[in-house]
Amino acid sequence: MDRQNFIKNSSILTLGLSFSKLYSPLLMKDENVGTNWAGNLAYSAKNIVFPKTIDELQKEVLKINNGKALGSRHSFNNVADTQTTLISTSYLDKIISIDTKQSLVWIEPGIKYGTLGIYLDSKGFALHNLASLPHISVAGACATATHGSGDGNGNLSTAVQALEIMKADGTIIKLNKNDPEFYGAVVNLGALGIVTKMALSIQPSFQVTQEVFENLPMSQLEQNFDAIYKAGYSVSMFTHWIDKNITQVWVKKRVDAKPTPKVKNFFGATAATTNLHPIKVNSPINCTDQMGVPGPWYDRLPHFKMGFTPSNGAELQSEFFVPRQHAYKAIMAVESLHKIIYPSLYVTEIRSIAADNFWLSPAYQQDMIAIHFTWKPETDKVMKILPMIEEKLKPFNYRPHWGKLFTIAPSALQSRYPKFKNFLAMAKKMDPQGKWKNNFLNRNIYG
Ligand SMILES: Cc1cc2nc3c(=O)[nH]c(=O)nc-3n(C[C@H](O)[C@H](O)[C@H](O)COP(=O)(O)OP(=O)(O)OC[C@H]3O[C@@H](n4cnc5c(N)ncnc54)[C@H](O)[C@@H]3O)c2cc1C
Repeated sequence: MDRQNFIKNSSILTLGLSFSKLYSPLLMKDENVGTNWAGNLAYSAKNIVFPKTIDELQKEVLKINNGKALGSRHSFNNVADTQTTLISTSYLDKIISIDTKQSLVWIEPGIKYGTLGIYLDSKGFALHNLASLPHISVAGACATATHGSGDGNGNLSTAVQALEIMKADGTIIKLNKNDPEFYGAVVNLGALGIVTKMALSIQPSFQVTQEVFENLPMSQLEQNFDAIYKAGYSVSMFTHWIDKNITQVWVKKRVDAKPTPKVKNFFGATAATTNLHPIKVNSPINCTDQMGVPGPWYDRLPHFKMGFTPSNGAELQSEFFVPRQHAYKAIMAVESLHKIIYPSLYVTEIRSIAADNFWLSPAYQQDMIAIHFTWKPETDKVMKILPMIEEKLKPFNYRPHWGKLFTIAPSALQSRYPKFKNFLAMAKKMDPQGKWKNNFLNRNIYG
């Protein structure tokens, strides 16, 4: 499918819009509105604004009746879309200060992890973890509970210690861990207002090595799942769901951790002899260095380097979280669909995420594993496969990634979050006129 058809078709599907509405003159757009990163979603906003200061942001917020904060455009669904005004945070990207006493960095929302990481490391500091790519904005990532991997690592939003949010009336609310509402405000789906400032927890900088092992039989997971994930600070498994084979295991170890011997055989998998891309046919030049070569945390915890295309490029993504104790059964439940999945798949990644206390976090009060799918840009086929995967994962009360493609009914989705009603009440209180409502929130939160 060519790029234009890809955008057109998947926009219609994910937005539930009719073809005529998508091209209605009423929706004449500012040409800067554009698409999301993957190109599967043409934003339906009429215009986009780029405030450079908090004062400019306030003026824009007061001008509009409806709009949506936009980060770095990396979500695959319409969570960041609106039919009115997109408010880009791309120029609100400053590092405000480092508070060494409290081990915090204060930042503006639009800064990307890649930029922040290099700066923090130059000052001797680090964040606890990163996602597979450094190209995403901090506020956009935290709003959807974006995560990396690691048994002891909460998702990226767990670094947030305080934040400030501009509400629909232009006033700013400040929240920190002493406020009960803080736990609803960090993973916020853009429903509460525009995050203007965040304080993230920092620690002394550390080095990480990355080793990759190839071809681990899935049968090893039944007895050794915990041992495999305990082998590093952050561990990811990749599979194409062919021959019950985990094609690659990426083991990221902190250099300051208790040293463990280098092994050639890892639960039946063999140590790679060269750098690899998770989609093996792609060049590893896009990937962070492997082969056990130590490097700074910001250049090892993500799989992909800043300045290069992460993942595949033209693609779709979905991800489902299941409680850690069901890991093996859930993986095998998905495996039973392998014949349906693999023809449309680039690669699956399986990661572990530690429990947290954020009301809308998929890891709310439960250690989770996340089964992720990087799909070929075949929207029609993928949207038919997703309900089958979700049906298989239903017995495990799965929760979908907020920023990727999913089909679960809103009532079922809401029932998976014990604090859902608290979040809804908070959203209604902070945004009584529905300034930040969009199709995604109308369906999944307000629906
Ligand atoms: C190649 C690729 C790899 C990925 N890898 C991972 C991964 O490893 N782990 C993972 O968990 N996810 C991953 N994702 C998904 C991605 O991290 C999430 O979709 C994330 O939300 C994207 O951040 P963004 O800045 O692009 O936000 P956007 O997509 O622009 O927005 C997401 C949400 O954040 C809100 N938002 C943005 N800024 C603000 C603000 N200042 N105030 C309030 N709300 C705001 C928006 O309104 C929207 O609701 C990946 C995506 C891609 C394309």
